[in-house]
Amino acid sequence: MVVMKFGGTSVGTAQAMRQVIAIIGEKRKSGAPLVVLSACSGVTNKLIHIADQAGAGHIEEALRLAGEVRAFHLDLIGELIASEELKAEVIEKIGVYLTRLERLTEGIGIVGELTERSRDRFCSFGELLSTTVFAAALKEQGVRCEWIDVRQVMITDDRYGFARPLAETCRKNTGEIIRPLLDAGNVVVTQGYIGATGSGRTTTLGRGGSDLSAALLGAWLHSESIEIWTDVDGVMTCDPRMVPEARSIRVMTFSEAAELAYLGAKVLHPDTIAPAVEKNIPVYVLNTWHPESKGTLITNDPELLAGKSHGGLVKSIAVKKGQAILNIRSNRMFGRHGFMSELFEVFERFAVSVEMISTSEVSVSLTVDDATVSEPFIQALRSLGEVDIEHKVATVSVVGDNLRMSRGVAGRIFSSLRNVNLRMISQGASEINVGVVVDEGDVAAAVAALHCEFFAESQCAGIFEKPAGS
Ligand code: ADP
Ligand code: ASP
Ligand code: MG
Repeated sequence: MVVMKFGGTSVGTAQAMRQVIAIIGEKRKSGAPLVVLSACSGVTNKLIHIADQAGAGHIEEALRLAGEVRAFHLDLIGELIASEELKAEVIEKIGVYLTRLERLTEGIGIVGELTERSRDRFCSFGELLSTTVFAAALKEQGVRCEWIDVRQVMITDDRYGFARPLAETCRKNTGEIIRPLLDAGNVVVTQGYIGATGSGRTTTLGRGGSDLSAALLGAWLHSESIEIWTDVDGVMTCDPRMVPEARSIRVMTFSEAAELAYLGAKVLHPDTIAPAVEKNIPVYVLNTWHPESKGTLITNDPELLAGKSHGGLVKSIAVKKGQAILNIRSNRMFGRHGFMSELFEVFERFAVSVEMISTSEVSVSLTVDDATVSEPFIQALRSLGEVDIEHKVATVSVVGDNLRMSRGVAGRIFSSLRNVNLRMISQGASEINVGVVVDEGDVAAAVAALHCEFFAESQCAGIFEKPAGS
């Protein structure tokens, strides 16, 4: 059996949902899949906005936005479902969620205070609504399907906004709740991104977390493969929104995919790969709009990786914007021990996570998410040495397993970037990435230069594919 996850744009309109139903129809011929869905595109952002408005006491505005969420889903139902009986049933079901959303909005609005816990509650409605509408649309097409509230299965810790599952409980629940429905030949439809604590409080796994839900469920079910269906032809040599000539990567290793995701490629949630690696389950990244194209296979299978299609020195380029560089300089570092542990204690205390790091005898440069830099944090760092900060920078990283063994790559990277002002340089300890930090305004030039250097037409034949439809 296969786990199929469809992202927001894949279920964002009635037309998209019809396309997904057709894809599932094909898949069903070889066994009923577990279908994991995101919220319809834009809905999670809107729910966050509603939560913020309610938290600020702007009840009217928050309710107006909640009304838009209601109208959007009712329109979808109107377009997708003809049967009056089914329509009445699904309108009643989504009505329950929408009323809860409105009550929550009023409640938070009156208190005028939003906690992470209530924010997760707001966010959870997106996936609950999309899956409810989608399951009804599947039934309308005569497909035997069961809708499951994933909060019965995905039991997590209580780190709201970033919850992680309690694996053993979840594995057991998956076996008891989802497995029998699949074995009986039902397509099972459930939500990505959300879960619940042991005491039933709704949690979320973090933005983009539906990929992770699918990978976890796939691992617990020992599925044959995990399919991530999205709006591009698989993992590409760069974000195609940034480089229109970006090509699709046919095959890549788990470590390449994980590294790329951590370094900013939004196509996969960074934690998606770990559950697949654990059970050695292949992950496919596929395009809902071109289901016939091959997309990307992520695997460690040596046979599949042996072919020409796994070549290429650099696999892909990832970009992470919204970063800051912190330069900390102190003579106390020179020849002494203990400085780094004092430094990291400050990061620990302020819960700031370090992305890139580069050190010399008397200074350390680190990149962090710009949003996590606060005045008290900087003050605490100043007690260790001189600190200067550069805001609005981005990391640009090249990733590929073959970087490890190849000579001359660094030379090619830096000579292609000769016209770009590099603020910091770092080679990842995994040795499969090299990253540079540039001003956000220089990202386009840096990425274009690197893409041209490593993915010129002559180097791509047989390894990378032009996306379908280009
Ligand atoms: P979904 O809603 O299906 O989860 P996302 O928007 O989260 O989709 O991820 C898909 C998007 O990721 C693409 O539209 C693309 O702009 C972006 N992206 C960033 N880096 C890459 C890359 N290397 N390959 C493919 N897509 C990428
Ligand atoms: N709906 C959630 C988000 O927009 C989760 C996801 O799409 O993966 O972040
Ligand atoms: Mg996503």
